[in-house]
Amino acid sequence: MRRAGFGAIVLALAAAYGLMARAPAGEVAYGFRYERAGDAFVSIDIAWPEPLAAPRSLVFPRAVPMGYGEQRYDAFVSDLRAFTPDGGISVPEREEGPRWRLPAGARRVTYRVDLRRMEGEIRAASDASRVRDGYLGALGYSVFAFVEGSEPRPARLRVSGPEGWPVFSTLAPRAPAAAAPADVRASDFYALADSQIVMGPRAAVRRIAEAPVPLYLAVYSEGTVDLDRLGRLAAASLARVAGYFGTIPFAHYTVHMELLAPISPDHEYGMSMEHLDSSTYYLASPFGPASSTAPEEELGVLFNFAHHMAHAWVPKRAYGDGYLPFQWEIAPVIDSIWFAEGFGQYAAIAALAAGMPDPSAYRQRMLARRFRSNVAGAPDFLRQLPLVALSRVASTRYAEDFRTGRLVFSRGGLMAAAIDDRIQAASGGTRSLRDALRFLVAWSARERRGFRVDELAGLIQEGAGVDVRAVIDEWLRPLPDAAVR
Ligand SMILES: [Zn+2]
Repeated sequence: MRRAGFGAIVLALAAAYGLMARAPAGEVAYGFRYERAGDAFVSIDIAWPEPLAAPRSLVFPRAVPMGYGEQRYDAFVSDLRAFTPDGGISVPEREEGPRWRLPAGARRVTYRVDLRRMEGEIRAASDASRVRDGYLGALGYSVFAFVEGSEPRPARLRVSGPEGWPVFSTLAPRAPAAAAPADVRASDFYALADSQIVMGPRAAVRRIAEAPVPLYLAVYSEGTVDLDRLGRLAAASLARVAGYFGTIPFAHYTVHMELLAPISPDHEYGMSMEHLDSSTYYLASPFGPASSTAPEEELGVLFNFAHHMAHAWVPKRAYGDGYLPFQWEIAPVIDSIWFAEGFGQYAAIAALAAGMPDPSAYRQRMLARRFRSNVAGAPDFLRQLPLVALSRVASTRYAEDFRTGRLVFSRGGLMAAAIDDRIQAASGGTRSLRDALRFLVAWSARERRGFRVDELAGLIQEGAGVDVRAVIDEWLRPLPDAAVR
C-alpha cells in the first residue's frame, strides 16, 4: 500500500539512485580532523557536489574488508548533522543497521567518532583505530561513511591534526611526514576506506631505500624497536613478493606497525591486516619477533611481511566471487577464502623460498608449520565440511572462531602447493603456479570481476598450460578421516 501510494516518490528515488550509481564523476570531499592532543574524538566532514534529490541513507561500514567479520563502527558515532546549501541544519534519523536517513537537499554531513571508546570496546586490536599520548592511528573503514550509491565516486581527503603534529596518509605517503594538513585522493570509497591515517610526534615515519616501489614505514612503539632492521626486512619481503608476481599494481606501499602496551587482558594483539597498498601490524609488548634478532624470529617477521604484502595481489587484485564490489554493512559470504588466504600465503612462501639457501627445505618446513599441522589438529566437524562450505562458515567468523579461519587457509595453502607440484611435474619444471597467479592478476584487472570456483581450473590452465582440475576437486572435498593426520 505504501509503495502504491508513493509511486512517484519511488520513481524519483530510483532516478536519483540510478544517477548516483552511474555517475562516479563528482568527487566526494572528506575531512578528517583531530583537533587537540589528548582528545578522544575525531571530527569527520563529508560533502558531495550536488544536493540530494531525495532522502538517502548515510551508511557506516560494519564489514571489514578481508576481515571476514564485522565490527559495529557506527556505535562510536555521535553529533551527526546534515546541512543543506540554504543554511538548513538537521539531525538525521537513525535507521535500522548502520544507517542514518539524510533529508532531501542535504549536501554535507558532519559527525564525530570516539576513537578512545572504539579501542576500549573492540578487542581485536587490528580492527580498531586508536589515540595514545602523542599518536593517532586510524583505519579508514572505522571512521568514514558514505551516501548509499556513491561508493564508485572518487574521494578527496583532507587530514589535519593538532598544531605541529606530523600527518601521514597511506594514500599519498611522504617521509618525513609534514606538520601540515595532508590533501590526498582515492579512486573510490573502497580505496579511501582501505587507507590509514597516522599522525603525531610519537609516530616514526621513514622511507626505505632499495625497494621496488617507494616503501614507507610508519611505526608507533611503546617500547624499543629497531626501525633499520624492520625497514630492511620489509624491503626484502616486498622485493621477493614483487619478483614472484612480476608486476607491481601499486605506486607506493606502506608498512604501518603499532607496538602496543595491552589495554586489557581481554584485548587481542598479534594480528595483521592487508590493504590495497599497505598492511597493518598490531603487536603487544614485548613485541617478540619484531624486536628479536634471532635468525628464526627474523624469518618469522620476513614471512609476516611477505604474507600480507602478497595479499595486495591475492586477493586484493585477483579474487573469487563476492570480494568486490565490497558489501559494507554485513560481512559477505564468500566461497573462495581458501584461495584468498591459502594461495596468498603460499605465494609468500614460494616467493621467499626462491631467495633461501635451500628453497625446497624452506618450503617444506613452512608447509608443515603453516598448513599441515593446522589441518591435522582441526576438529572433525570442520574437516568433514567441503571446502566451499567451510569458506562460507569462515566468511563471518574467520578470526572470531579462528578454528574456521586457520583450517580454510591451511587447506587452501596445501591445495596451492599440490597445484604447484602438478604444474611443475607436467611442464618439466618450466612452468609453475607463479605463471597461473600472474595470469589471474592480469585477468582480474581486465575482467573487473571475481572468478567463480568452477572457473578456477580453466583459468589456471590458461595461465600455466596444465590441467589441474582433479587436484582442485580433490582439495575441495571433505578431508578423509585418515588424511593429513
Ligand atoms: Zn592472510
